[in-house]
Amino acid sequence: MRVCVLGAGVVGLATAWALGEAGCEVVIADAETKPGQGASAGNGAQLSYNFVAPFASPDTLRHLPALLLDPAAPIRIAPRFDLDFLRWNLAFLRACTGRMERETTVAQLALAALSRTELDRLEAAAGLHFYRRVAGKLVVYREANSFAAARRQAERQRKVGAEQIVLDGAACLQQEPGLRIAPGVLHGGVYTPSEELGDSAAFCEGLAAKLAQRNSISFALGSRVEPVLRGGKLVAVRANDTEIAADCFVLCLGSGSAAFARACGFRLPIQSMKGYSFTFRPRDRSAALRHSVTDADRKIVFAPLDRPDGPVIRAAGVADLVGDDRRIDPKRLDAVRRGTADALDVDLDSDPTGWAGLRPATPDSRPIVGPSPIPALFLNTGHGALGWTLACGTARLTTELLLGQEPSVRAADFAFGR
Ligand SMILES: Cc1cc2nc3c(=O)[nH]c(=O)nc-3n(C[C@H](O)[C@H](O)[C@H](O)COP(=O)(O)OP(=O)(O)OC[C@H]3O[C@@H](n4cnc5c(N)ncnc54)[C@H](O)[C@@H]3O)c2cc1C
Repeated sequence: MRVCVLGAGVVGLATAWALGEAGCEVVIADAETKPGQGASAGNGAQLSYNFVAPFASPDTLRHLPALLLDPAAPIRIAPRFDLDFLRWNLAFLRACTGRMERETTVAQLALAALSRTELDRLEAAAGLHFYRRVAGKLVVYREANSFAAARRQAERQRKVGAEQIVLDGAACLQQEPGLRIAPGVLHGGVYTPSEELGDSAAFCEGLAAKLAQRNSISFALGSRVEPVLRGGKLVAVRANDTEIAADCFVLCLGSGSAAFARACGFRLPIQSMKGYSFTFRPRDRSAALRHSVTDADRKIVFAPLDRPDGPVIRAAGVADLVGDDRRIDPKRLDAVRRGTADALDVDLDSDPTGWAGLRPATPDSRPIVGPSPIPALFLNTGHGALGWTLACGTARLTTELLLGQEPSVRAADFAFGR
């Protein structure tokens, strides 16, 4: 079977690998001239297999008015009159129930476990190096309410097998000496020893090089793709002046997926959630981090990456629903920098340019995987804040569904129109 994978981000590349392993001929198409240049290029580097709770929750709903009114809040929603945007927001509000939060957590934990196993397999089979390691993850809370909600979530997750330790504020500072938050400011944290991190840009670069060595896999880079429909079926994509035909297409265009779906005649509930990152070297050993850390109320994550040229820390944060605009807003990048300086010992002059990327967010935070309303078009997109973590899991699920095999996780949890 010849499959065209649309998108060469971490999701598209992992999908191409899984399909190639299953014996498919694969062509990977992307607008950029190099793979991995979208959201996968500068993300927070967390392989967050246990912290999979959705953004839509009763706790988020409670905080929403304050978040919307505070210009310095880590979440920004720019209201606009656009039917897709309004529908997305309504669906998000509907997903903010305790029941939905629990259902999504259980579904995402199963997918994340599959993803970890699949990444292990891929890493070993392809011999990739992307600074992956088990660093443990400490999520710290500055507010009593959010810490209380986190305790409840940790308790629920423990019941389904996630190993998490609840710590008070002082114990958090002991656990992670690189934190520079004043004693008394932290209410507590949740520590998960088994959590991992890794550089998704290095993963994309290495995996693309391995894929390019295979005879059955090719790339069509450097041109946006548009659908070519005949009789309501997707038969090809147009890239520049050429048409790429295939038996089947897998939509992995990240934040570009909704526009492609619109051109095919259906709506995908995906909005771009913009975030920022910058990367810096710790001043010295005492400023280095041992674990990956999340400053939960500021919505900033810190990942200590052991690169061959020395250790760096990637700081990433904020979530702005401001449309498909990848430009850097200096004020929002500055919010991540100031938040970082408030938690760690950091030289703010490092990496002055920073980076911005668009998380392809669904209202319930679950990716959309499986058949679309258009014959021959499969979906593997909408991974939101967890695309790096979940990419290999949804690649496996896509391959299983496409080839009519028994799915490794409950496919209905991730189906279009669930
Ligand atoms: C600030 C930030 C921090 C994050 N931190 C983490 C983290 O710590 N852990 C984690 O698991 N996830 C994290 N994420 C989320 C993760 O990065 C994304 O979910 C993931 O990268 C999505 O991968 P993708 O392949 O779907 O999309 P992308 O990497 O964006 O790839 C999509 C590709 O499609 C191409 N494309 C789009 N439209 C078209 C078109 N019409 N024609 C041709 N090509 C097109 C683009 O060029 C791009 O290469 C973070 C994201 C951000 C922004």
